[in-house]
Amino acid sequence: MDLTITVRVCDKCKRQDRPAKRYTLTPDEGRPIQRDLCDEDAAPVLDLFDLEAEKPQPASEAKPPAQRKATGKKATAKKATTRRGRTPVKTLAEIEAEKAARAKES
Ligand SMILES: [Zn+2]
Repeated sequence: MDLTITVRVCDKCKRQDRPAKRYTLTPDEGRPIQRDLCDEDAAPVLDLFDLEAEKPQPASEAKPPAQRKATGKKATAKKATTRRGRTPVKTLAEIEAEKAARAKES
């Protein structure tokens, strides 16, 4: 059997993972214009009409934290290897103490 499924996608971003709503704009003495828009792309339009989208899509916000996590891991890994590379580890306090000792000697 044939099964046809119609999915309404946003005219602007054409993303199928976002629900799109159909909006109709009717100018004075003009023909109504229809656009299917997801909440994100409809936001500027809704803003003009002082309306709000029902659900703001957090899709764009989900990415940056993941990237931050990845860079964080890299940074920690680098630090660990550098520390391991220099075998006699001197703390800042020890270095300062040595400097002070040298200053006293001269
Ligand atoms: Zn869209």
